[in-house]
Amino acid sequence: KSWVQCGTSMKILSALKRHSYEKPTPIQAQAIPAIMSGRDLIGIAKTGSGKTIAFLLPMYRHIMDQRPLEEGEGPIAVIMTPTRELALQITKECKKFSKPLNLRVVCVYGGTGISEQIAELKRGAEIIVCTPGRMIDMLGANSGDSKCKTVFCDAPCAQVMRIMDNVRPDRQTVMFSATFPRAMEALARRILSKPVEVQV
Ligand code: AMP
Repeated sequence: KSWVQCGTSMKILSALKRHSYEKPTPIQAQAIPAIMSGRDLIGIAKTGSGKTIAFLLPMYRHIMDQRPLEEGEGPIAVIMTPTRELALQITKECKKFSKPLNLRVVCVYGGTGISEQIAELKRGAEIIVCTPGRMIDMLGANSGDSKCKTVFCDAPCAQVMRIMDNVRPDRQTVMFSATFPRAMEALARRILSKPVEVQV
């Protein structure tokens, strides 16, 4: 499969080219069309498989359909991952595409001051990348009628439930994990609706 067959826009295509992402990886070829169709998805894939971009490309298309946001509104998409290192890594990947699309990304994680992160959110951002603990601390700060309709859980943990309870039920949810122990299956059943399953 090529990027064009995955339904990718011109601006995204040129960013993919600029970063030498020549063609979709197997998980991207399987997951991108399913996520673009609006389905929830559960993916079993290791780090290095390209799972981040498998979620990001459909997410950008969804965001471009929703824009523009009013001042201070947002987010449209939330990406959750367990550690600060992963959050920063995903943010870096995200910015490769959000810059040319003129979208704002805020990265929110614990172990550092909360006020600057709250201020950034208040300025408005289409995308939040976060660790669940800090996101729970910030739920109160980001009040109002949430436009967030797309959520990506990378290696989710139990804390994710607290956040999901605050996201509208008609959201699209995508979850990736390297392994699927029982606890993860139970979580998946609670947060996903009729998911497509992909495994590489
Ligand atoms: P991930 O599995 O999302 O942690 O991605 C692993 C690495 O693969 C990242 O450094 C990406 O930049 C890179 N990557 C993702 N998709 C592609 C692709 N289609 N072609 C080449 N490299 C990619």
